[in-house]
Amino acid sequence: MRKYSQFKDNYLKNTIIKNSNNSHIKIIDKKTCREQCDKKPCTYYCPTGVFFWLKEEKQIKVDYKRCVECGACPLGCPHENIKWTFPPGGYGVKYQF
Ligand code: SF4
Ligand code: SF4
Repeated sequence: MRKYSQFKDNYLKNTIIKNSNNSHIKIIDKKTCREQCDKKPCTYYCPTGVFFWLKEEKQIKVDYKRCVECGACPLGCPHENIKWTFPPGGYGVKYQF
């Protein structure tokens, strides 16, 4: 599994993200992550590393402020265990090219 480092990986250098205070991404059932999902694919298919596994707490952490709204997470979870919506109006990602 990819080792995630929020501070070393600069995936977001061409983006501006205006964050709301509330996450637009939710894990529906944490027990499913813990007990039924050995490979935890969300921790490597998300392009910006929003999801990572906290070994000691035995749960997925969702760093929603890194989301670039690609829409992949609800499709990639084999247990349909991620509830994803767009951020509320006025918030979310803007790209700079
Ligand atoms: S892929 Fe889905 S079930 Fe597996 S750890 Fe991630 S959110 Fe949980
Ligand atoms: S929508 Fe894309 S960028 Fe956002 S959390 Fe899901 S996979 Fe990651």
